[in-house]
Amino acid sequence: MFSLQNKTALITGGASGIGLAISKTFAQAGASVHILDLNADQAEQAASEIRQTGGLVTSHAVDVSNQSQTVEVINQIAEQGPIHILVNNAGVSHIGTVETTTEADFDRIFRINTKGVYNCLFATIPHMKKNGGGVVLNMASIAATLGIPDRFAYSMSKGAVLTMTLSVAKDYLKDNIRCNCISPARVHTPFVDGFIARTYPGREAEMFEKLSKTQPIGRMAEPEEVGALALYLCSDEAGFITGCDYPLDGGFTRLNN
Ligand code: NAD
Repeated sequence: MFSLQNKTALITGGASGIGLAISKTFAQAGASVHILDLNADQAEQAASEIRQTGGLVTSHAVDVSNQSQTVEVINQIAEQGPIHILVNNAGVSHIGTVETTTEADFDRIFRINTKGVYNCLFATIPHMKKNGGGVVLNMASIAATLGIPDRFAYSMSKGAVLTMTLSVAKDYLKDNIRCNCISPARVHTPFVDGFIARTYPGREAEMFEKLSKTQPIGRMAEPEEVGALALYLCSDEAGFITGCDYPLDGGFTRLNN
């Protein structure tokens, strides 16, 4: 079950955190993994680590917010054979209300978190159509559907990821392309550690504890737990699932009352 043998998977932001866990999990399930990440060194380091365990992985330096760069790299990959899976995971955080969000920050978050997903879809969907189908998995957030304090631009960007998921799922039903998203609450990754270190210097341990407790289950998720759900949703076993948003949230959405 859940084999990705003979499948080619593109994973954006695959050099760190959730994307790295998905890359490892997919490689272990037999996929040929392409890590597309802004951080070339870290992407190659991740790829060589996975290769040492027998996985088939290639790293590519790509800024997903840049359409021509993204299209060029994805076309190059498509020349080697069919692309079966696209995981749009690359994303950055931002803290702020509407009043404390500058125009530059708003544009940056939109460019990476939202336009980056569009660029990868724009580049990949034509290849999937031509090859008779595929699976897209987008990394949204609970911020897409809940009011999270101090996350104005971030929530905007993830709300768009959720609605792009629905749009693509509907438009490409006839092309045998499934599209879903995962909405995690806090996952323990460098994304979260960096936020704590920047925002609460000197109070890291206390804030880690406090942020862990905001999930009713009492802890943050591990990246591997997102990897496991991603594997299921991208496998043939999930062939009946499209147009769905999966909270992976330790009870945050339904039990926080
Ligand atoms: P992370 O910072 O550990 O990893 C993000 C990766 O994306 C990095 O390798 C980074 O180099 C890459 N990246 C950033 N900008 C890029 C760009 N323009 N082009 C290509 N690559 C780029 O983050 P993470 O915690 O693993 O988060 C991954 C995704 O999950 C993000 O979309 C994030 O919004 C989402 N998410 C995270 C959490 C959490 O608590 N960690 C919760 C909900 C959703």
